[in-house]
Amino acid sequence: MAKKGKDKKDESALSVSKGVEQPPSVNPTLLKRIRQKRKQSYSADEYAEKIIEGNITFLSKAITLVESSRQEHYDEAQKIIDLCLPYSGNSVRLGITGVPGAGKSSFIETLGKRLCSLNTKLAVLAIDPSSEKSHGSILGDKTRMESLANDNNAFIRPSPSAGSLGGVARKTRETIILCEAAGFDTIFIETVGVGQSETLVHSMVDFFLLIMISGAGDELQGIKRGITEMADAIVINKADGANIIKAQTARVEFQNALHFFPHSKPGWKPEVLTCSAQEATGIDEVWAMVMEYISIAKGNGYFQEWRQKQAVYRMHDTINEAINKSFYKDAEISAMLPELEDMLQKNRITSYSAACKVLNKYFSDKGKDCF
Ligand code: GDP
Repeated sequence: MAKKGKDKKDESALSVSKGVEQPPSVNPTLLKRIRQKRKQSYSADEYAEKIIEGNITFLSKAITLVESSRQEHYDEAQKIIDLCLPYSGNSVRLGITGVPGAGKSSFIETLGKRLCSLNTKLAVLAIDPSSEKSHGSILGDKTRMESLANDNNAFIRPSPSAGSLGGVARKTRETIILCEAAGFDTIFIETVGVGQSETLVHSMVDFFLLIMISGAGDELQGIKRGITEMADAIVINKADGANIIKAQTARVEFQNALHFFPHSKPGWKPEVLTCSAQEATGIDEVWAMVMEYISIAKGNGYFQEWRQKQAVYRMHDTINEAINKSFYKDAEISAMLPELEDMLQKNRITSYSAACKVLNKYFSDKGKDCF
């Protein structure tokens, strides 16, 4: 049977059936998110305002800018830091060091949870000299601090994972300023007690705590004498179970040994305490000791004096870092170095004259004498 006119038209190859509506080629939710992201470039004033209000998202974003190696991020971060600076400084800064396995993160978690339950606002930062190779071996991959990380009063930030130790130190100092502006009144800075990072941490904290364990053979456990000298207190951790007696013996030994170490903080003799981070014993005593020091140092003016000394150290440190960077970034210097290294290996030049050659080149270009 022949079809009616209308039906015939529908059968045409050019007809468009009503069918299902074509989905958009770009996911609209994604598009919305991308647009939102694009909008999310805030001014330094907006950042600072939010940080000072205690907004953790903005604090984290600003720290990411501080840690970035891009110049525009660095410039933006400096503006934010300048705005936050007047709101910083009102915290207790505690440095915590010790060899891997001594129990630093367990100690931080136990003490940290205790402090947070008392409404202390705690920021935990890290300086990790090995982070360049291991991408942040301390804090970053620690699940043990999970319960502290979930506490609303705590903010945990792993070590920046790139850059020289000097660069990492600068980033940590700037992060301290941002955290203080965000209202954190207690800052813990953790570092592994094996390298030079302790000197840097020491230069940015009010109180420097060395965590040790007893019965590990050599009581100094690979800790350099210099670090023990820098410590304002030694805490022997894992004083629990069968280890209690050993920990107490170690405590007496350390206390005696410390008498022979010079210490420069007036009105304070470094103390040795025992604790168990696992069983949460002796932890309150450690904090009471830190508070006692703060009270003494504020009373005799040393608290402020020490922070001022640190500011001077920081200035020199920044100058050294900048000169170093400028030197090694210089194209002519970089071109000279491989040949000099080669000559050194072939014993055709002394290290001193090789150094003089490049230094003279660098400084004479700047119209300055080197030696
Ligand atoms: P870190 O590398 O110095 O941060 O040390 P961790 O906090 O990761 O602790 C290293 C190991 O020692 C872990 O297996 C902990 O469970 C254990 N540990 C830490 N504190 C104590 C303690 O007070 N007593 C005992 N018995 N073990 C502890």
